Amino acid sequence: MAMTAPASPVARIETIEAFAATRDASALVWIEGPTSGAFCDAGTLADVEDARRRFERFAPALCRLFPSGDWDGLIASPLISLPDNGGRPLWVKCDHALPIAGSVKARGGIHEVLKYVETIARKHGVDPDAPDFAERLLDPNVRQMFASHQLLVGSTGNLAYGVGVAARAFGLAVEVHMSSDAKAWKKERLRSFGVTVVEHDGDFTEAVAEARRSAASRTACHFVDDENSRDLLAGYAVAARELAGQLDEGGVRPSPDIPLVVYIPCGVGGAAGGIALGLKAIYGDAVHIVIVEPLASACMMAARLNGNRAVSIYRYGRDNRTIADGLAVPCASQLVLDVAATCIDAAVAIGDEAMTDCARHMWSEAGLKLEPSAAAGFAARAPLRSVWGKTNPVIELVWTTGGQLMPDEEFAALVEPQKK
Ligand SMILES: *Cc1c(COP(=O)(O)O)cnc(C)c1O
Repeated sequence: MAMTAPASPVARIETIEAFAATRDASALVWIEGPTSGAFCDAGTLADVEDARRRFERFAPALCRLFPSGDWDGLIASPLISLPDNGGRPLWVKCDHALPIAGSVKARGGIHEVLKYVETIARKHGVDPDAPDFAERLLDPNVRQMFASHQLLVGSTGNLAYGVGVAARAFGLAVEVHMSSDAKAWKKERLRSFGVTVVEHDGDFTEAVAEARRSAASRTACHFVDDENSRDLLAGYAVAARELAGQLDEGGVRPSPDIPLVVYIPCGVGGAAGGIALGLKAIYGDAVHIVIVEPLASACMMAARLNGNRAVSIYRYGRDNRTIADGLAVPCASQLVLDVAATCIDAAVAIGDEAMTDCARHMWSEAGLKLEPSAAAGFAARAPLRSVWGKTNPVIELVWTTGGQLMPDEEFAALVEPQKK
């Protein structure tokens, strides 16, 4: 029956009341009025520059710990373009293929790991600016000292994975708290790396709260707080300069007349918010940031409509049940809202089927291995266009955020046509 019913309409949402009341739309679209001016404070931008230098300092060490081809040790991803219908290319920023973590979490999560490693190293007289820094980090005595320090993280999966793999490589002890949405293969792989995995029946917010509580009672322990970490944000934001360099090299120069429209999947908001503030600092009004969420977990849209105050989507009859495990978050980060809310120009909420369709399509058409969360950006383009009403040309870019490391069997089950 559902197959033959006409497609539900796309709904433009302008108030939190309309968000609460609109339950049968195929997609929700919220568009901010024009924003301009200062998008982000100078202190935050200084932190981003600091993070960029930290990645550079650690590149030789990461190269040694994760040897792979001619990798230079920098956490960076390719920018590709796909031929698109309108005669314009569709740009894709391939963070699903980021080194070490295979997801956007390699940026924020690994940055926070590096900063913690650096703090411990300094305390023990290992100078991060010394030419033999990479050497010293691999010294068995230094590693022994790392082993007495612990990282704790709560996550739906990908953050725990990125933090876990990177931190274990430096010899740190790692404990991750995962929500019920987390995929079994991520837990199994983490355990094989010597990570302690604690599973929770509840959702993302509960797993993070549990991990935070647990971390507070320990010594020599650092908690990576997905809801509240400036170090995560700064790590994500470094991506902006990387992208700007790639666009510039390709002769792409966004302007307010022909702006860059960036679609980014959004969970708690750290990745999207960090990237958004980095891009606004470079392009200002010449970039429009569109965050994309599952209908069941549209917590950032709800927060933007709620005067930029984080609010649980359960209050609006959404159940946080989605195939997009990386985006299954019931409440956005208040830190992200405080620092980067004005960098978010639009929000689109879409259904699971649209994400899965896009994952299938991108695999068959472009060979991109994306998990449903990571394909969300593609699925948001049509709904946004249908309500935006503007016809001026834009440069479209979709940020793909994870999937490269999915086990083949799991991926095949996702993209193969369902057998009846
Ligand atoms: C975590 C994640 C996101 C969103 O990042 P947030 O910081 O939670 O907003 C998007 N896509 C994938 C695949 C992720 O794992």
